[in-house]
Amino acid sequence: ARLTAADADSDERAVEAALRPRSLAEVVGQHRVREQLGLVLDAARARGRAPDHVLLSGPPGLGKTTLAMIIAGELGAPLRLTSGPAITHAGDLAAILSGLQEGDVLFVDEIHRMSRAAEEMLYMAMEDFRVDVVIGKGPGATAIPLEIPSFTLVGATTRAGLLPGPLRDRFGFTAHLEFYEPAELDQIVHRSAGLLEVRLTDEGSREIASRSRGTPRIANRLLRRVRDYAQVRADGVVSHDVARKALELYEVDASGLDRLDRGVLDALCRRFGGGPVGLSTLAVAVGEERETVEEVAEPFLVRLGLLARTPRGRVATATAWRHLGLTAPATAFG
Ligand code: ADP
Repeated sequence: ARLTAADADSDERAVEAALRPRSLAEVVGQHRVREQLGLVLDAARARGRAPDHVLLSGPPGLGKTTLAMIIAGELGAPLRLTSGPAITHAGDLAAILSGLQEGDVLFVDEIHRMSRAAEEMLYMAMEDFRVDVVIGKGPGATAIPLEIPSFTLVGATTRAGLLPGPLRDRFGFTAHLEFYEPAELDQIVHRSAGLLEVRLTDEGSREIASRSRGTPRIANRLLRRVRDYAQVRADGVVSHDVARKALELYEVDASGLDRLDRGVLDALCRRFGGGPVGLSTLAVAVGEERETVEEVAEPFLVRLGLLARTPRGRVATATAWRHLGLTAPATAFG
């Protein structure tokens, strides 16, 4: 996987488990979400009832799975994990729901990718704790009502706007996770270094934090790669110099841009005069899939104000030209 990808593969998930905060108090940053969620959980505990369903939205790697695990932990309830893409038929969901015990927390990652039929079944389950299981097809089909134990749904989505209104409305509490500030990432890198027994200077930590795209998952991943470098090429300590050299070697620049990001900017400025240029043309120029450019590189470039999406195509901003060490044309955007 790319070093700066916000998603994790299954190997990485295993490594990440050791670094996950286990309580709300251990979570770094996200103050508002932490306080609101703390209140929801305290109130539910005081009433001795399962809390409202919770929707967590925000880009990958910001802590949605971590918060779901903490919710279950704080309620003393087991967490069942599944994901939208794994629920292709209503029957898949019926099987999961009927296997739940009273008070369980069900985590559905990428909930916006569930099938329509399953979604409709979920509305009913969330509201009435019952579902209709349809047996047979056509005019002979019958719906058999099935009671399910009361549970708390924790849904995660990268974009709350992708969820149909009726589903969104059935969550009693929605938390939107924001990208992290450099100081918060710095704190996360220090915390992870402690858990992984990596020796690290304050400057080394800051260097990693500032190249992590506002994303804890990336901060933790860069820390592991820099640790490798420190052990093999230096004295084992992650100093400022070690962090900088290692990240240069891995082609992660001072703003957190990687090879693909720079390739996109480079093509945009040098080959297309700063644009506007269509997404497909741009993707061909950097030798990548259209989806990769659109979903992986562009969101971060847009966030840094380096690229703009206009109705006529992609455009490099004046900042982008400067980032590449080029002189921006007088007509450059932004
Ligand atoms: P998501 O589900 O949003 O993709 P995860 O919950 O899997 O993200 O988090 C990715 C990694 O980042 C985890 O290993 C976790 O340790 C770390 N992490 C995320 N948020 C925080 C935080 N607020 N404080 C400390 N570590 C965090």
